[in-house]
Amino acid sequence: MGSDIEVFPLTIDQTRCEAYGFCTEAAPALLELDDEGYLHALAHPVTAQAIADAEAAVRVCPVAALRLEAVAVAE
Ligand code: SF4
Repeated sequence: MGSDIEVFPLTIDQTRCEAYGFCTEAAPALLELDDEGYLHALAHPVTAQAIADAEAAVRVCPVAALRLEAVAVAE
């Protein structure tokens, strides 16, 4: 039986996102706004090393469009 690994999905609620761009300033390596104002995750799931940036992006979003959670996945 394998051990569980943790992954950190960063999900975007496109129905809430209003393209303010605060999250892309907080985590430019993880999130990007395209020319039409749609937010894209550049790294999915987020690595453990990038968790602090991802948490900062979630915190600065004024409309709570981002969610980061730890999920245990069996190897
Ligand atoms: S801060 Fe929130 S509203 Fe602004 S682009 Fe990021 S997810 Fe969208």
